[in-house]
Amino acid sequence: MKPAKAKVPRKPVLKKGSQTNLKDPVGVYCRVRPLSFPDQECCVEVVNNTTVQLHTPEGYRLNRNGDYKETQYSFKRVFGTHTTQKELFDVVASPLVDDLIHGKNGLLFTYGVTGSGKTHTMTGSPGYGGLLPRCLNMIFNSIGSFQAKRYVFKSNDRNSMEIQCEVDALLERQKREAMPVPKTPSSKRQADPEFADMINVQEFCKAEDVDEDSVYGVFVSYIEIYNNYIYDLLEEVQFDPIKPKLPQSKILREDKNHNMYVAGCTEVEVKSTEEAFEVFWRGQKKRRIANTHLNRESSRSHSVFSIKLVQAPLDADGDNVLQEKEQITLSQLSLVDLAGSERTNRTKAEGNRLREAGNINQSLMTLRTCMEVLRENQTYGTNKMVPYRDSKLTHLFKNYFDGEGKVRMIVCVNPKAEDYEESLQVMRFAEVTQEVEVARPVDKVICGLTPGRRYRNLPRGGPVGDEPLVTEMTLQSFPPLPPWRLLDINDEETLPKLIETLEKRHHLRQLMTEELNKQCMTFKALLKEFDNSLSNKENYTQEKLNEKEKLISGQKSEIERLEKKNKTLEYKIEILEKTTTIYEEDKRNLQQELESQNQKLQRQLSDKRRLEARLQGMVTETTMKWQKECDRRVAATQLEMQNKLWVKDEKLKQLKAIVTEPKPEKPERPSRERDREKIIQRSVSPSPMPLSSNNIAQISNGQQLMSQPQLQRRSNSCSSISVASCISEWEQKLSPFSTPVNVTSLARHRQQEPGQSKTCMVSDRRRGLYWTEGREMVPTFSSEIGVEDDRCRRGDVFKTRGGGQSVQFTDIETLKQESPTGSRKRRSSTVAPAQPDGTESEWTDVETRCSVAVEMRAGSQLGPGYQHHAQPKRKKP
Ligand code: ADP
Ligand code: MG
Repeated sequence: MKPAKAKVPRKPVLKKGSQTNLKDPVGVYCRVRPLSFPDQECCVEVVNNTTVQLHTPEGYRLNRNGDYKETQYSFKRVFGTHTTQKELFDVVASPLVDDLIHGKNGLLFTYGVTGSGKTHTMTGSPGYGGLLPRCLNMIFNSIGSFQAKRYVFKSNDRNSMEIQCEVDALLERQKREAMPVPKTPSSKRQADPEFADMINVQEFCKAEDVDEDSVYGVFVSYIEIYNNYIYDLLEEVQFDPIKPKLPQSKILREDKNHNMYVAGCTEVEVKSTEEAFEVFWRGQKKRRIANTHLNRESSRSHSVFSIKLVQAPLDADGDNVLQEKEQITLSQLSLVDLAGSERTNRTKAEGNRLREAGNINQSLMTLRTCMEVLRENQTYGTNKMVPYRDSKLTHLFKNYFDGEGKVRMIVCVNPKAEDYEESLQVMRFAEVTQEVEVARPVDKVICGLTPGRRYRNLPRGGPVGDEPLVTEMTLQSFPPLPPWRLLDINDEETLPKLIETLEKRHHLRQLMTEELNKQCMTFKALLKEFDNSLSNKENYTQEKLNEKEKLISGQKSEIERLEKKNKTLEYKIEILEKTTTIYEEDKRNLQQELESQNQKLQRQLSDKRRLEARLQGMVTETTMKWQKECDRRVAATQLEMQNKLWVKDEKLKQLKAIVTEPKPEKPERPSRERDREKIIQRSVSPSPMPLSSNNIAQISNGQQLMSQPQLQRRSNSCSSISVASCISEWEQKLSPFSTPVNVTSLARHRQQEPGQSKTCMVSDRRRGLYWTEGREMVPTFSSEIGVEDDRCRRGDVFKTRGGGQSVQFTDIETLKQESPTGSRKRRSSTVAPAQPDGTESEWTDVETRCSVAVEMRAGSQLGPGYQHHAQPKRKKP
């Protein structure tokens, strides 16, 4: 018999009709493995059965300089270090197996860094069977007695299943058994001791509500994706260890239902857990050998073990499988052990390996990107293209995310501190994945045949009792049979009576049958009616249920959204709190600074005030001092003026005396004592005050210097006055060589030789200074200038009018005019005070005059050098 040809796509109605809006998020679970050594630093804490917290390890904290944050991650369920394989299986994988048996697809993958326990979780370790053997175990426990005979189902290379009758299957079995290699697998074979303790699952696990009116077939395939190439691990190729042949990679194809599958991939039909695991183990061995010979790193490949479950309904009699391909239900569970999610640099890969690692990372990166795009599309209603085709891994599982099926992921975490950063990445991926929603798979279609077919036609071997009892009761309801023994050959009554009774019975039976048929018909009608109403009700209930489910899922998603929002807000609050703390600290610091600045300012202010007060004091003091000084100076000036006045008076008096004196009389030089007496008697003006050495010392240097020329000039003027008087005196005494011509010539000479005349004047001045030295008070500048100007003017008049006697007379006349009351004969030398050293300083006017005259004459003759010779003369007492 030929296999039944497929007339319609495998699940066209299912595919199109299954587009319900019901979606479930990808179930993400977390498993934390125990630390390898108890003294290792741990960075993962299981907070509760849905939350883990990542703690930043010491070294990382120091490196980041405090720039790190500790976040909690939520999962559908978190499995701590003490979780058993059974617990994990019950929660994560058993619902997937249940779905598989009910015709729904499932995808389960383990994700995490190398060494985090992916393989331990998926495959298991000796003594600790993982999810894979447990899934197989549950499947075979559930469908064990309903399995189809081997080769009833046949996989084709178009990702669908053929079906053939039992006779054909038997023939094929015989044919295969006759072939030497490969041997027909046997479900009765003992498990390989290598993995026996991994599949020796103690706990019995079975799916509920398995459809008994179907037959089942299990097919497994095992592929590896390495460096973005797909390799069939179950392909029967003779391996040559001396010259290993490079394995041929497989390509991906899309079937007519748009499902992706590996073209030409070996699918092995298995009948027991042992057999299935043996097949897996074979693939695993092959993978290991290839890795060793081709120098590959197993942690960088993804392995996909797929379990395909085929189911077809029994025919109406319940004897044979229904030979209709469209009635075949195919479901698949893919168990994926992903490559280590660590970044390339962590594994220290180089050269080829680095490229491979890069590709593996590329696959995982693509997986990540796909999840992100899916999430974005679903959250914001966008229609971005999901880059499934960027890697073989995502391309193969495109249908799970695009179509329908249950997707679950176990995130494996090694809590050791070295894995912290990688674990952080894993957690982030998990966060994204949890938000992706996948269409919920729908229930498989009911074939429409009456349920319970399998047992209806089975030979009844139940306990005797029930059925004979019913027959007896029915027989008893019939009229009793007459005695039917023929004892006499000529008995003609017994037989006709028996015939009659039997006919009656027959009639009765017919009536009963008719009645039964009628009742059956009624019952059938009733049943049909009931069935209709039931199906109506069912439909109604289903509708209601769907509505409710929609509502629930809507509410669920709303709750999830709110939870997410809540999380974000919490995070924001946390950040804001931190910011507030920082600002408060800043504020406190600024306030402190302000206070210190204020204090400093206060201090500076008080310092300033103190300084001001001190300066005020100093100013007052200085003002007072200067006031005193001024007073003193004014007094001194007054005194000086008085002295000058007195001197002038004296001069005037002398002039008057000269004017009034009889001419021929030769003047007699009075003795000093007499002069002094005279002066004392005559003088009405106060005598000049001697200047104390103290007073001189008080005068500043500048003032001293300034006063010098003034003094000289004054002395000059004084001397000029003396000279005038002297000349007039000598004139009157008629001296033949002391004529005014000499003075005129002298004046002329001065005009011709200003330098020399100057020298002469300087010497005059010096003499004047000498004269005034003993009695001069320190002059104030202005008053000195005033007096000086006056004198200079007079001196200038004297000097510039270079014309003999007229000059003299003018001068004398002026002097006369100035002191009209003057009657003194000559200036008394007593005007000069005593020298500070006690020597007498008063000279007679005559002496002075003489010396001046001599000097003037000598000056005109000697020239510039004169002053030096003249100098000692001045000191003459
Ligand atoms: P992966 O596949 O992620 O690289 P494995 O599954 O090979 O990591 O685990 C590495 C080692 O850690 C193995 O020796 C395994 O036995 C051990 N291991 C992993 N997870 C667990 C666990 N939950 N309990 C005990 N041992 C574990
Ligand atoms: Mg592994």
